[in-house]
Amino acid sequence: MLKQVAEGVLIHESEFCQSNAVVVHGRAGVLLIDPGVLGDEMAALADDLRELGQPVVAGFSTHPHWDHLLWHARFGAAPRYGTARGAAFVRDRLSDPGAKARIAAQLIPPDIAGQVPLDLMGLITGLPAETAQIPWDGPEVRIIEHQAHAPGHAALLIEERGVLVAGDMLSDVLIPMLDLNAADPIEDYLAALRLLEGVAGDVDVLVPGHGSIGGADQVQARIDQDRAYVDALRDAHVPSDPRVGPSAKSGWEWVSDVHAGQLQGLARG
Ligand SMILES: [Zn+2]
Repeated sequence: MLKQVAEGVLIHESEFCQSNAVVVHGRAGVLLIDPGVLGDEMAALADDLRELGQPVVAGFSTHPHWDHLLWHARFGAAPRYGTARGAAFVRDRLSDPGAKARIAAQLIPPDIAGQVPLDLMGLITGLPAETAQIPWDGPEVRIIEHQAHAPGHAALLIEERGVLVAGDMLSDVLIPMLDLNAADPIEDYLAALRLLEGVAGDVDVLVPGHGSIGGADQVQARIDQDRAYVDALRDAHVPSDPRVGPSAKSGWEWVSDVHAGQLQGLARG
């Protein structure tokens, strides 16, 4: 079910990890950002759009992780964009024939693996580096690329609607998940937070890739919370964060494993 979060901007929340697919109305159809995870949910979203008489005219993938790279045949053959760096990473990862089977076996939780359609995964066109906006006939969508969480990660600012689509940044349920393969994951993450802080004043509605939609007051609050977590990691303190440990929301206990992995990964690095 689609829920409007701002004029012409709707979201569909998945059962999987509170993932948010974002629909933006344009002149001739919609832009679909991170379409979803489960096959039947994406099919239902396609039905909803058909009922609204809104074809998908463009797609965008915020970053090259499997849960942000999916697509359903019923969305049609619109161009699906990502950053150049993100698209190159996907191409590389999917270049060998066993890649999808490996993703299904190693990355997708076993309880949903059979419900995630992988045939159209990752067919992303990289926009040339430094592209400022998504090329489409609708409200301007500014691409805010940064190196945190995943190579070529992009947040999107729909300025005239006051909406920030944050990808896997600024979640109320996920701690900052660093790209531990990067040369300086901590500094990258802090730089990304500064970049997002630079647009925080323009945001009335914050849409994280996973988690709850936030209002204007949530943008700076989540930036502060994420920065405190990353600062603590950098200073080799164990961050105390409500998103991990006994106070974490039920169903999100796995975040504590990510947290432990980051403490370990950084200690090794
Ligand atoms: Zn994600």
